[in-house]
Amino acid sequence: MTTTDLERWTRVKGRLRAEVGEEIFLSWFSRMELERVQESVAHLTVPTRFLKSWIQSHYIDRVLACWQQEHAEVQKIDVAVRSAVIRTTVPKIKPIEASEPVRHAGNGKLEMDGARIAFGPVSTGHDALGGSPLDLRLTFDTFVIGRSNTLAHAAGKQVAVARRGDPVMFNPLYIHAGVGLGKTHLLQAITWAGNNGNERKVLYLTAEKFMYGFVSALRMQTAHAFKEALRGIDVLVIDDLQFLQGKSTQAEFCHTLNALIDAGRQVVIAADRPPTDLESLDDRVRSRLAGGLVVEMGPLGEELRLEILKTRVLAARHYHPSFDVPAPVLAYIARSVTHNGRDLEGAINRLLAHNKLTGQPVTMEMAEREVRDLIRPQEPKRVKIEDIQRIVARQYNVSRADLLSSRRTANVVRPRQVAMYLAKTLTLRSLPEIGRRFGGRDHTTVLHAVRKIEGLVGNDAMLADEIEVLKRQLQD
Ligand code: ADP
Ligand code: MG
Repeated sequence: MTTTDLERWTRVKGRLRAEVGEEIFLSWFSRMELERVQESVAHLTVPTRFLKSWIQSHYIDRVLACWQQEHAEVQKIDVAVRSAVIRTTVPKIKPIEASEPVRHAGNGKLEMDGARIAFGPVSTGHDALGGSPLDLRLTFDTFVIGRSNTLAHAAGKQVAVARRGDPVMFNPLYIHAGVGLGKTHLLQAITWAGNNGNERKVLYLTAEKFMYGFVSALRMQTAHAFKEALRGIDVLVIDDLQFLQGKSTQAEFCHTLNALIDAGRQVVIAADRPPTDLESLDDRVRSRLAGGLVVEMGPLGEELRLEILKTRVLAARHYHPSFDVPAPVLAYIARSVTHNGRDLEGAINRLLAHNKLTGQPVTMEMAEREVRDLIRPQEPKRVKIEDIQRIVARQYNVSRADLLSSRRTANVVRPRQVAMYLAKTLTLRSLPEIGRRFGGRDHTTVLHAVRKIEGLVGNDAMLADEIEVLKRQLQD
């Protein structure tokens, strides 16, 4: 595959994103990767059969049209399911062979079986039920705790260490978060840890796998056995519940859920939205889901991103001891690749691939080049000056007219300066324009206000907090 293809692909994704919107893009296309372009066919891959069939039946023409706008020669799109767990567009690095022995040591640490152990899927050992493959790297050892996931982590840990017969503290444990914020990682960690010692049976299934399992059991008239087997599980872990589709599958899921919960078995669920927003599920399932512990994992903060990157580098060192990423490069990636954990993983994989393939050490320059397309232009949300005035006025309990007036009492002056400061930092309006919108003031007045507040926030923690709160209200 050439760099031109890769660049085209980046632009095709940009077009898709613009056409279908951020949310749909993230749900269906964020994990789609370009394999190669060959003889007028663009070969793309996705991680699951479900994504493949969904994209084929709903979006294939769109994808093709976007390609053709970039590269008219492409006549056809081929979507395949990729097998390894590596999610990156760089050449794959020593993927594990399905037949190779992999072990997971009882202490929750990986057993290093030569160099290759750290990549690749491995079965959960519940093949009769068709458990989804687990990734050896996704354990509690590699899960970094930060402000946004402390509660989810604690709850997950609790579930993982419980023993058979222990009272179930919260059921189901329902974790929701946006794409790439660590749901799958946490769920697989729970599965790995829970299966240690084998006293309990912990089964990890994606909702798609649940659907396929159930549908094919129906077809082969083994639905009864399937249900019985499911109900023999101690901990059922279901990932990506938002993909559960179809009336009969949902009904079956509902029965399974009820049966397990009533029998005191633990159920753990992850989805990209809270239970109340799973529109396609019926009310009873939703309320059952909401009846346990519902925890949200927020966006990864910069500190957490940095820790994740460090963990990734350490893991990579196990099998590539000479791999090193200087601290400033890590800091740069943590600062600029803000979107989600998947992009962080991708960034490290690229540096590693580059380092291995060229033998060149990782430098800032190389990092900037390699991760460029992972940095999404921070689209500043369009904030309106009216909104700023309204929200600032409310916060300081003055009227909007006060802000625009020429009154110079302290209780109006400060809020007015804050509002001007926000107008300058959150919008693209020029100083004169901001002045006009604040009762026809001169641009030097606005500049003075902006400088004043900039100077104050450095020393005045309370003011800094107030401004943070205002910004958040304006940008959410
Ligand atoms: P989700 O299932 O929510 O879409 P994943 O669990 O697949 O997200 O996470 C995406 C990537 O980010 C994975 O490589 C994962 O290991 C990493 N990641 C996310 N959160 C954390 C965390 N708290 N600690 C370590 N790695 C994380
Ligand atoms: Mg996931």
